[in-house]
Amino acid sequence: MSAEAAGGTLKVEVDRTRCIGLGLCEAASPKHFEVGEDGKLIILQSVVDSGDLSEVEEAVESCPTNALRFVR
Ligand code: SF4
Repeated sequence: MSAEAAGGTLKVEVDRTRCIGLGLCEAASPKHFEVGEDGKLIILQSVVDSGDLSEVEEAVESCPTNALRFVR
């Protein structure tokens, strides 16, 4: 089932208290994620378009501290 079929706008959010700034998410999806000057993640684009879903899923799964999650 696609993100759209599940209903609602899919977004990704970060818990900055968990982020340790390794940048694995940025490597997976530079369009959505960037590690800022303070070494914590900045979400560049929270809305996940269907065409970006696989790379954002990869980013969420690659985060070693589980700082990223999908929300609706
Ligand atoms: S992969 Fe996780 S810990 Fe690393 S920068 Fe991204 S959110 Fe932070």
